[in-house]
Amino acid sequence: MRMSVLFVQTLREYPSDAEVISHKLLVRAGYIRKLANGIYNYLPLMWRVLKKIENIVREEMDKAGAQEILMPFVQPAELWQESGRWDVYGKELMRLKDRHSREMCLGPTHEEVITSIAREGIRSYKQLPVNLYQIQSKFRDEIRPRFGLLRGREFIMKDAYSFDIDEAGLDKSYQIMADAYKRIFERCGLETKMVQSDSGAIGGSVSHEFMVLVNEDSENNAGENDVFYCPKCGYSANSNHAVSLLKEALTDGKFGKAQIVDTPNTHSIEELSKFLNIPATVICKTLIYVIDGKYVAALIRGDRTIEETKLMNAFQGNEIRIARNDEIEEIMNNSGFSAVAGFIGPKGLKGVEIIADETVKDLKNFVIGINQNDKHLTGANWGVDVELPSKICDIRLAEENDKCVECQSELKVTKGIEVGNIFKLGTKYSKAMSATFTDKDGSEKPFIMGCYGIGISRTAAAAVERHHDEHGIIWPVAIAPYKVIVVPVSDQDETQMSVAESIYQKLLNAGVEVILDDRAERAGVKLKDADLIGIPYRITVGKTIKDNLVEFKERASNITENITPEQAIDRIIAM
Ligand code: ATP
Ligand code: MG
Repeated sequence: MRMSVLFVQTLREYPSDAEVISHKLLVRAGYIRKLANGIYNYLPLMWRVLKKIENIVREEMDKAGAQEILMPFVQPAELWQESGRWDVYGKELMRLKDRHSREMCLGPTHEEVITSIAREGIRSYKQLPVNLYQIQSKFRDEIRPRFGLLRGREFIMKDAYSFDIDEAGLDKSYQIMADAYKRIFERCGLETKMVQSDSGAIGGSVSHEFMVLVNEDSENNAGENDVFYCPKCGYSANSNHAVSLLKEALTDGKFGKAQIVDTPNTHSIEELSKFLNIPATVICKTLIYVIDGKYVAALIRGDRTIEETKLMNAFQGNEIRIARNDEIEEIMNNSGFSAVAGFIGPKGLKGVEIIADETVKDLKNFVIGINQNDKHLTGANWGVDVELPSKICDIRLAEENDKCVECQSELKVTKGIEVGNIFKLGTKYSKAMSATFTDKDGSEKPFIMGCYGIGISRTAAAAVERHHDEHGIIWPVAIAPYKVIVVPVSDQDETQMSVAESIYQKLLNAGVEVILDDRAERAGVKLKDADLIGIPYRITVGKTIKDNLVEFKERASNITENITPEQAIDRIIAM
């Protein structure tokens, strides 16, 4: 490819709406252009990268025994009504009507469609196991599309679905996919960590995410997930799923007897503990949430934080948010109280389900809100002053230095970008949609399913997050749009131009993906662009060509060497 005709426009500045480095660099280096919020054009360089990733994914999926298909992007509502997800998927599901007023949606994922394929096509256990996959655009009307390709509304995903006769079969299919995923990301030049995770809207019981770990103190916060891990035993989980043992904590408030005390203006735990001169660990905090439109009061020890996904899952909910002040007012009115947030307690609440985190059950002589402004009950005890809620679960966020449940070492936390996710679905979709096969004994059984996603476009962006420097992108060779760029320093110098041209031709003939920068541009511009777009190797033809030497540069290490054109060509072909 000649740079003079390559459709790429590099920019001098980063785009003003970009927060993270992959978004900044992909726009500035001319890979993507925004069409609408969370919707991007993939320009030629980007499309080459995406196809490289797709091909690695394809090769590994095929090797793992999966078969490629392509399902429609637009899906009929009926299938989603059958699975029960039409009503619960929420606003991320982009719904539309056709000219006959039939309800449709843009596919955010394809469990329903694939289950309908299996229902029609698989009759007997003899046809199982089978794993079908596609690489396709997905649409999710994300509430906060941001970070460029990391969180778009339209994005490219590989999604695979396995069908087995029993759990043992699913375990095997799942392991085969986990192994394939490890190889895929390794081949893409990305180190990943496989961590336990919550199953979210996809459903099912067991799931793991593949995380690209990013440095928390890097200049951006592209790692949207907190990953807890144990350096000793290897336990690792997304914060929405991570469990931990608590550090030792003082749980006895050492208050004499139960007593209502004035605690003016103590709206936060910090203010309350300061005012009473007690540690936060002897306070029972009460927070009001709205889960699928219903009020929930969640109790947790004062020093800890609620993990909202865990809380939502405790009620099999789909949507959770903290209650607004007017909603708290409504609860107070209904219960005959008039307190604001900070003074709420579980006793006497009406129309509210109550749940407690495990941290509160051993509290003794603790402090708790009693739904009266500027007052708290001190020296409270369960069963005497307040009833211990019957629903007690782990609904807390793990914290760094909590103890590992497996080996009691201290947990560490790091930031991660989720590039892949695998789920054991079991019979969630096959039962709901009556997708069955005839087993050996003649009985009809629902398929045991698994599903497996990889964000193709997110993986490309994650590679940029991991591999860049102050000059631009540093693509891992396997997914780079081109392997090498040949740059003559001066387009006025005939020798330089003809040597560059001949190197270019020889590399082309050898099947190497190569760019020749034949533009009439200053050397500085050409070298800067080569660094910015991140081609892994550069061969610069400059003045030293009179001694039959060119400069060979590896983008990742910035190491340069002067070697002959023939050596440079041989080296590239051998790599
Ligand atoms: P997230 O938690 O980041 O919103 P998810 O868990 O909802 O993602 P999955 O349903 O697991 O996403 O989809 C499979 C893969 O698709 C993810 O692992 C991720 O790589 C990719 N993906 C999901 N949502 C997006 C998005 N909005 N933009 C780009 N890639 C995405
Ligand atoms: Mg996921």
